[in-house]
Amino acid sequence: MLILVVNCGSSTVKYQLFDMQDPEQGRVIAKGIVERIGLPGSRLEHYYDEKSVIREREVNNHKVALEWILEVLTDPQIGVIQNVKEIEAVGHRVVHGGEKFRESVLIDDKVIEAVREYVQLAPLHNPPNILGIEACRSVLPDVPQVAVFDTAFHATMPPHAYTYAIPYEYYEKYRIRRYGFHGTSHRYVAERTAKILRRDLSSLKLITCHMGSGVSFAAIKNGESIDTSMGFTPLEGLIMGTRCGDIDPAIVLFLMEKEGLSIKEMDEILNKKSGVLGVSGISSDTRDIEDAAPSNPRAQLTLDLIAYRAKKYIGAYYAVLGGLDALVFTAGIGENSSYIRKSICEGLEHLGITIDEAKNTVRRKEAVISQDGAPVKVMVVPTNEELMIARDTWRLVAQKR
Ligand code: ADP
Repeated sequence: MLILVVNCGSSTVKYQLFDMQDPEQGRVIAKGIVERIGLPGSRLEHYYDEKSVIREREVNNHKVALEWILEVLTDPQIGVIQNVKEIEAVGHRVVHGGEKFRESVLIDDKVIEAVREYVQLAPLHNPPNILGIEACRSVLPDVPQVAVFDTAFHATMPPHAYTYAIPYEYYEKYRIRRYGFHGTSHRYVAERTAKILRRDLSSLKLITCHMGSGVSFAAIKNGESIDTSMGFTPLEGLIMGTRCGDIDPAIVLFLMEKEGLSIKEMDEILNKKSGVLGVSGISSDTRDIEDAAPSNPRAQLTLDLIAYRAKKYIGAYYAVLGGLDALVFTAGIGENSSYIRKSICEGLEHLGITIDEAKNTVRRKEAVISQDGAPVKVMVVPTNEELMIARDTWRLVAQKR
């Protein structure tokens, strides 16, 4: 069964075509991205058979992007299938599923309507996700579509983890609560961790650390997310590339007053100008900060902040989990940065968390990097959200047959 996985941003469509003959592993037979949709210089980068091509053409909207992707996938030279009819299902990444969607679902008009309702909770993300779904429905009208939500895995959080201590009426009126994000990644990593450790996920206490340009940690008990660091929006929690994570909310009021900032300007500061970029003044990419740190005290301070905040979350989640079997690193930083993994784990030996320096040199590979015999397994598990989306899609579509 061939499944197309689609991830739509405001000006991009990323795609992966999976052969799901083995639904556990999946096999990517082609993938790529259309960039600069609705902007000058739209382009498509397509990877197939260990080769890649770049094409340019005007792309005004997501529907045109999807049509182009299908054209490329069926192209006699660079395509991998003969006919679009070979695609039996489409899986969509959808960022916000609100309180309604606790798992992935087959898309119908009602689902689209509900995702539209949650636009107010995810104004940057849900609209392009809807555009992608509508575009696929129009270019592949007879093909079942599945929505896989970033928030769904965290739907198991108990009220004491998701309720904010502001007047309760704002939860009732606006559904202001913690939702959490990166759920598909945390779920994938948790499932892989159980497989690698040859343990039942339902018997494990895990902290999964998704550290990319966005960063979120999750406390996972018996296979369920019981807490996570991102909140009502992806702004809360750890220090990220350009997002501030936790701050005293009074800082926002203070700055708006002192600097005469509009809501939009303040939002820009918190989401785009803070975090690693804001503190270092150099870059949002931790590689640049690691390079600069030996001779730049603010770069070193940025790295110290990342590690210190991470330690605090690990301590908090250790406490609420009541112990820990594995601490798992994933995404760009988590999979690659030996320095950041080490600086986070250093000083946590009293919790059973250790690092084996030789094993910690690993990059982008599944590995246990803690010392032999240590009580907590520290691990690297590369994430694969697209495979998770393909698996959910396969499960829902195959079940319907
Ligand atoms: P996204 O969150 O945008 O999907 P990734 O998960 O790929 O992105 O993470 C991107 C981030 O990972 C980069 O901004 C960079 O900070 C970090 N990163 C990638 N490779 C390395 C590396 N070798 N060392 C340190 N950081 C890295």
